[in-house]
Order: sequence, then structure tokens, then C-alpha cells
Amino acid sequence: MSLFESMKGVQLPTTEAERNELTVTESTHGIWDYHLSRRANLMRALCGAPTLPTAIPLSAWGDQPDENLPRRPTYCEACARVAWPQGKADDGNDTAGT
Ligand SMILES: [Zn+2]
Repeated sequence: MSLFESMKGVQLPTTEAERNELTVTESTHGIWDYHLSRRANLMRALCGAPTLPTAIPLSAWGDQPDENLPRRPTYCEACARVAWPQGKADDGNDTAGT
């Protein structure tokens, strides 16, 4: 399946505001490895990582589901810093460096 095939179900943004809207995307090389992208460029995260679109709402960013999953989802800190320079609703104390 080509990348264009996988884009078929994705609604294309029409206005400038929609194009700049943040959306949750998934890393192309890991499951449950989430980044943030602008709707105008879902194939690239704010941090520069190659990504694929997801159906996850932005409000779910940072959530850790209670379900019994084999591993916890991870959320890219670099993307979050670009998206919310002043921090999102609550500031996590995760200061892991590179
Ligand atoms: Zn990222």
C-alpha cells in the first residue's frame, strides 16, 4: 500500500487555520510512538520525524490508557515543546535529555 493510499481517509484541510491545526501523528518506525504535526503536513512531525496520520484526537495527547496494553504509548517531547512553548495544560516533570 502506498502512502497515498493510506491518506485516502484523511480529510484535507481547506482554510489556513485548518492547515496549521495540530494533529496527533504516529511514528513510521514504531507503534504507539506519537508525534504532533500540522494538518498541512501529516507526513512530518514538528520535530522532523517522518509520521503517519492517526485518528487520535489532540485532547488525548499524553493520555495513558488504563487498559492492559503490552506497552505504554510514548508522546514526543520535542513536538510538544514546539506546539506548546509555554507548556500544555499541566507541565509534566519528565526532563529526560537526549
Ligand atoms: Zn516528535
